[in-house]
Amino acid sequence: METRHHVVIVGGGFGGLHAARALKRAPVRVTLIDRRNFHLFQPLLYQVATGGLSPADIASPLRGILSHQKNVHVVLGEVTGFDLPNHIVRLADHAIHFDSLIVATGVRHHYFGNTDWEHHAPGLKTIEDALAIRRRILYAFEAAERETDPALVQAWLTFVVVGGGPTGVEMAGAIGEIAHFTLRNNFRSIDPSQARIYLVEGLNQVLSNYRPKLAARAANDLQQMGIDVHLNTMVTDIQADHVVLKSGASTQEIQAKTIIWAAGVQASPLGKQLAGAADAEVDRLGRVLVEPDMSLPNYPHVFVIGDLANRPDVEGQPLPGVALVAIQQGKYVARLLIKRLNNESTSPPFRYINLGSMATIGRARAVADMGWLRLTGYWGWLAWLFVHLMRLVGYENRISVFVQWAYNYVTRNRSARLITGEGE
Ligand SMILES: Cc1cc2nc3c(=O)[nH]c(=O)nc-3n(C[C@H](O)[C@H](O)[C@H](O)COP(=O)(O)OP(=O)(O)OC[C@H]3O[C@@H](n4cnc5c(N)ncnc54)[C@H](O)[C@@H]3O)c2cc1C
Repeated sequence: METRHHVVIVGGGFGGLHAARALKRAPVRVTLIDRRNFHLFQPLLYQVATGGLSPADIASPLRGILSHQKNVHVVLGEVTGFDLPNHIVRLADHAIHFDSLIVATGVRHHYFGNTDWEHHAPGLKTIEDALAIRRRILYAFEAAERETDPALVQAWLTFVVVGGGPTGVEMAGAIGEIAHFTLRNNFRSIDPSQARIYLVEGLNQVLSNYRPKLAARAANDLQQMGIDVHLNTMVTDIQADHVVLKSGASTQEIQAKTIIWAAGVQASPLGKQLAGAADAEVDRLGRVLVEPDMSLPNYPHVFVIGDLANRPDVEGQPLPGVALVAIQQGKYVARLLIKRLNNESTSPPFRYINLGSMATIGRARAVADMGWLRLTGYWGWLAWLFVHLMRLVGYENRISVFVQWAYNYVTRNRSARLITGEGE
């Protein structure tokens, strides 16, 4: 009979995986449950969506990552609910008992109530999303090549990215590179560089969390790459062949066959379930309001971390939904559990150490803000490359991505330009 304290972790993303790893030497057994059998490096999803990398480059099987950590048992399955008073996690076909529970199931995209937009403007969160977007982008050039009506050719060659956060900026920049460089000389009837790419942002700057100067530099870089950046502009309708923009009193309809959503997220549905089971609160995005030690109110052995948690920073604002927050919270909760098992009573509240943020715009163009150091252009881009390469899980992936980036840099090629799956 196994007597070690049983920690159940739901979600093998950044938060869950780092919590599991930090429990490596702890006198506990860990069960890590995820509905996918891999850990996904979401910051590079846009590269899969634009043919620069293949899915396996940015995803690593959880069993492989944790194969040497003997106290972890990986379970492939979807968690459907909780019975907190009885310490039970429910999956579709069985239940697992826990002593401590860490829930890190992240977020998914959110269309602010316009659920019908999802069909026309896919978001980027999973490998499947990335492949669907890749298909749409590449198919648009193929359809334009076949089309004879000039208006339709232009509609196929028009791309609208909604949302000027890091994902939107990176997507728009990458589509610009494809149109201007990667596809050069690939077509006979159309000139891919005639593509129009719009980036639409509701606020008065792209990269809203960045200092205005860096954000302005990013917008300027995008414009130099031929991207039409619309600030202070709201999307009011999305259909299969057009999008309606509203800026102040004026509205504009853009005929576009490819629209990509990078504008909002909401918490995984497990957040509401968990909060309901614990009588806890969720915010308007469905993130669970947690105690300073990331636990649920009245359930000190149940923790919510990463994107699913709403934990305010020193100014009272929720911490951003970024990988570093999830990683630090995963490690923090693991340390806290170890302390409790050692009967060390007090534990300081979770504090986020902001090591900075960075976004790439295109080849040799990026912005990076590390607080004490701000980089743009080529140096920002090198910093971005280095940090993302080092954060990728698994040496094999790092080597493969490094080789492909070097090749892509020299040739401006994107070798994963495959139209796969079902589509138009
Ligand atoms: C396109 C994109 C680009 C990004 N770029 C950056 C960036 O450049 N820098 C940065 O810091 N952050 C970036 N982020 C944000 C970052 O990826 C997240 O903050 C981070 O992944 C959050 O980690 P998490 O552990 O909370 O959730 P996730 O990493 O999302 O992991 C959640 C896990 O839970 C699993 N899961 C969900 N529901 C269930 C269920 N019911 N049962 C079982 N398993 C379940 C999922 O399969 C997944 O493995 C980006 C995100 C996206 C989508």
